[in-house]
Amino acid sequence: MKTRSNLHTHTTYCDGRNSMEEMVQAAIALGFRSLGFSSHAYTGASYDVCGIKKDRIDSYFAEIDSLQRKYEGRIRLYKGFEIEGYVPFIDPRLDYSIGSIHVFRTPLGLREIDNTPEIFQSAIDAFKGDVWKLLEGYFEDMVHYSQVSEYDITGHFDLVTKFIEKHPLFDDSDRRYIDMAISAIDMICQRGKIIEVNTGAIARGYRSSPYPASFILRRILQDKALITISSDCHSAAALAQSFDETENLLRSIGFREQAELTDSGFRMTAL
Ligand SMILES: [Zn+2]
Ligand SMILES: [Zn+2]
Repeated sequence: MKTRSNLHTHTTYCDGRNSMEEMVQAAIALGFRSLGFSSHAYTGASYDVCGIKKDRIDSYFAEIDSLQRKYEGRIRLYKGFEIEGYVPFIDPRLDYSIGSIHVFRTPLGLREIDNTPEIFQSAIDAFKGDVWKLLEGYFEDMVHYSQVSEYDITGHFDLVTKFIEKHPLFDDSDRRYIDMAISAIDMICQRGKIIEVNTGAIARGYRSSPYPASFILRRILQDKALITISSDCHSAAALAQSFDETENLLRSIGFREQAELTDSGFRMTAL
């Protein structure tokens, strides 16, 4: 495993199982150079059960500072949020941000496409059962979000495929899907976003390979965009989930390096 960092980390500040300090200790045990925390940002939406609570945001930043002091010289910690497309505020205290879409606009209002296949199905229902309209809407939102926001990393670009290995909600080998995914990733790469290669759904038993799918990774390489591997972990045990296999996959596609956050911004490191 060459990847010595993870920027997509959830803790008890949002929907993760472990504390920040448990994550730091797990990262040090893995030999990580750095660790970024990326709690789901505050959205204020009444149904949002994952986002950090407004009154915990200050202590979130303070705890990262205090852990940095405690573990100085052993690991570098960075402040991030995973920010939702419909509440794109970027807190000035952040070192970096991940732009993700779990929830987006449908003809019947905001609908989620994450969490369970049943929730995904109810988003399809909001498009009168037309999954292609849902997929179009999702990728349009991904592109729009990348254009209007200064977030750094595009999170799980093809999250819509999370359940399809086990629940055939749509066929991702359909030309219509391939065309819309390619056209969206081209525009996001052109915008200069770093694209996350995310192993989170493997840890949760939904997928056997990371996001994005291989055909999209090949396109990212062709588009000369930067990638970064992350585990989107919700527990310390999954901090480096499938990093070896993911590095091998990326090398087999032709990638030779990935972006890593440092004190002087993102720098390339060998894969
Ligand atoms: Zn996410
Ligand atoms: Zn996440």
